[in-house]
Amino acid sequence: MITQATPDRERIEALVRQAIRAAAGTVNRGSAPQSAAEARPSDPPGWVNGKPNLRVSISARHCHLTDEHVEILFGPGAKLVPEKDLYQDGFYAAQQTVMVVGPRRRMLPSVRVLGPTRPFSQVELAFTDSISLGIDAPVRHSGDIDGTPGCVLVGPAGTVQLTQGVIRAARHVHMNFSDAEHYGVKNGDLMQLVVRSPQCSVTFDELLVRADKAAKLEVHIDTDEGNACNLDAATQIELRKMVQEACACKNH
Ligand SMILES: [Zn+2]
Repeated sequence: MITQATPDRERIEALVRQAIRAAAGTVNRGSAPQSAAEARPSDPPGWVNGKPNLRVSISARHCHLTDEHVEILFGPGAKLVPEKDLYQDGFYAAQQTVMVVGPRRRMLPSVRVLGPTRPFSQVELAFTDSISLGIDAPVRHSGDIDGTPGCVLVGPAGTVQLTQGVIRAARHVHMNFSDAEHYGVKNGDLMQLVVRSPQCSVTFDELLVRADKAAKLEVHIDTDEGNACNLDAATQIELRKMVQEACACKNH
């Protein structure tokens, strides 16, 4: 008896995706860490089977807070309570969320706080978030907040007026120095991320390399960028050194 003549298209696509992921690295949203069994003790952080293991994670809107702001928002003596570890060691999503209020009382009711605390509070939004909030947030790298717009943060115990710190986080890639050597780049260089996705492949330019001894290879894009390339359906991801614009003199 013939049970199945041709597997349906969806199933084929799922199998292809699975095979490509196994061969080319994992596309994921930064949840499950690689099992320790695949990492060899002598490997650099995040490497699997002796090679860099590229992950692309979507950073949903979130905020970073100072110790002082945590106490104002959540009560005297309050500390961030880790709820979920992020892929980068030492960083976590906290149990706590805050309401972010923009001008004309537009607001985002529940924005996740990421830990640990920092010297400056900062709100990182996707472009779509900033439009719905009515704040014209500039594209900036984390920590570069001089002259950016502010907002009001509301927690269960109090309110903080930020005079600056609302940004659209610029796309970037975390890596350790072994990853950097592998790709032929150094801290501060720019790279390209190619995401192949059915009918909506996207090449992202200008990913800033953030190299650090303990970092694991991970691209951070925001929800708009992740949606634009339908990251969940991606069949292939590739990170490469950004090709310099050809000098005009070469054309003469
Ligand atoms: Zn990041």
